[in-house]
Amino acid sequence: MTGAERSEVQVYLALGANLGDAQASVLAAIQSIAVLPDTRLIATSSLYRTAPIDATGPDYVNAVIAVATRLNAPELLVHLQRIENQAGRARPYRNAPRTLDLDILLYGDARIGSATLQVPHPRMNERAFVLVPLAEIAQDRVSKDQLMAVGAQLIERLAAPLH
Ligand code: ATP
Ligand code: CA
Ligand code: CA
Repeated sequence: MTGAERSEVQVYLALGANLGDAQASVLAAIQSIAVLPDTRLIATSSLYRTAPIDATGPDYVNAVIAVATRLNAPELLVHLQRIENQAGRARPYRNAPRTLDLDILLYGDARIGSATLQVPHPRMNERAFVLVPLAEIAQDRVSKDQLMAVGAQLIERLAAPLH
């Protein structure tokens, strides 16, 4: 099937950065994602600042966006990894500080369990830096109980949603 024949799927992506100009990296990544083939930007959360979890290093800038895309999930992941690499992403060890991290949180209602892609993202429910911005743009995808469960994690809203 070609891209044009597929129907659009609503996808939620998490963005994070804590090296270099993290805010600029997140904003540039949103622009790069918005111009991916067969993809439209639907919504952007505020930017948030969070302390690293299970890791050291500078604070993170985080955001969640919604896109509608005709790319399938593996194709989308390849594009996201290219954008990460272009931002200078290195993976010296697990949870290392990073110039840019792009994760697929939700791909429609799909459940994917391949070696290279798990959706919904298996650790999203542990993370305020994912659930709080996700709830801002997709209230129906995050419950009060889910938010309560990460309520002890500090998260600071940095800026109003971008339009
Ligand atoms: P975490 O997955 O806990 O947020 P991380 O983002 O630091 O950790 P990475 O080093 O960026 O982990 O990614 C490791 C691998 O995770 C990627 O090479 C990719 O194949 C895989 N992966 C599995 N599921 C997903 C997903 N939903 N979104 C993005 N990458 C995923
Ligand atoms: Ca991640
Ligand atoms: Ca990642």
